[in-house]
Amino acid sequence: MDWQVPLADLDYGEAEKQAVLEVLDSRWLTMGAVTQKFEQRFAEAAGVQHALGVSNATVALHLACLALDIGPGDEVIVPSLTFVATANAVLYTGAQVRFADILGPDELTVSPESIAAQITPRTKAIIPMHYAGYPCRMAEIMELAARHGLAVIEDAAHAPGASLNGKALGTWGDIGCFSFFSNKNLSTGEGGMLVTHRDDLAQKIRLMRSHGMTSLTWDRHQGHAYSYDVVALGYNYRLDEIRSALGLVQLEKLAANNARRQVITHRYWEMLRGSRLGLPFSQFQGMPEAIPAYHIFPVLLPSDLERKAFIDHLKMRGIQTSIHYPPIHQFSFYRQLYPAVELPVTEQVGTRQATLPLYPSMTDEQLIATIEAIQEILA
Ligand SMILES: *Cc1c(COP(=O)(O)O)cnc(C)c1O
Repeated sequence: MDWQVPLADLDYGEAEKQAVLEVLDSRWLTMGAVTQKFEQRFAEAAGVQHALGVSNATVALHLACLALDIGPGDEVIVPSLTFVATANAVLYTGAQVRFADILGPDELTVSPESIAAQITPRTKAIIPMHYAGYPCRMAEIMELAARHGLAVIEDAAHAPGASLNGKALGTWGDIGCFSFFSNKNLSTGEGGMLVTHRDDLAQKIRLMRSHGMTSLTWDRHQGHAYSYDVVALGYNYRLDEIRSALGLVQLEKLAANNARRQVITHRYWEMLRGSRLGLPFSQFQGMPEAIPAYHIFPVLLPSDLERKAFIDHLKMRGIQTSIHYPPIHQFSFYRQLYPAVELPVTEQVGTRQATLPLYPSMTDEQLIATIEAIQEILA
């Protein structure tokens, strides 16, 4: 469909084209100098010791669980109001998930109190997800983790460039996982990154992302090694040079693009304040300690307005919307695994949530067209 206002849009131009051509001309396509440079720059930007490029954020979450020795018999606490990959990655390891509820309609991130209620003797880790790029209650979550000896893996797929109290999201816990999927703030089509302060975890992740091999094609190409051993069960979860080259260009644009997302988000809040729409996270406006990434713009519909009618009306005006997210515990697959889960706040929000268009190149005309279409359907 040819949307007048799409839900999301890439900020791609000549620099991305040039970066790809340079990789093609270099005749080295994967796990080389460009990926190393991307990892280094990403680590510097986040103020973290290690950054490791991988194929996508789903495998980043899987590797994070494996590096922390999560497996059969263990439990990991995750929100249900997130993309399904957050929970799937835990199940890949043979561990079980326990779902925690969110804070409330104003703050759609996971509730520390609900996490605490899900802790059992089998609990090994917590995976908070920084919904829309707004920080979870990290001080409370880290305190809870320390008290119970739990690891923390941050699902920071929405949050590149975001921080809380000057500390980048993704670097609060043991491991942070980022996504470079095509609709994310930093886009390479497919791609992901793990970050960690811990040398031991970085070493494990480096091994496991490439077959558990002790030396890589790149080292051998450079004459640093001629053979290798396999010392762990590994995977091919690598990132290639073309995507890393795109990532380097996109990383340069990230701060300005996040700032543009902030401006659009604040204009949405100003124009929709006093309407019948709920505006989650609007309390973050003017909060100095948090720098969100403003990945998406979620709203909550009034209970007397059917979500399908809202989405259809905006569609008729050429405006694309989405839902973030259908709660994981309500999917058929998860219902069968965990039939007894009840999360009142997640379920309430899950039926009323809608996501409006937000992307750095969104024009004033597009923003106003969206607001007008919303006013029509609310009237
Ligand atoms: C996009 C996303 C993922 C998965 O990222 P991929 O890179 O597509 O595997 C995981 N968690 C959240 C919250 C996401 O938005």
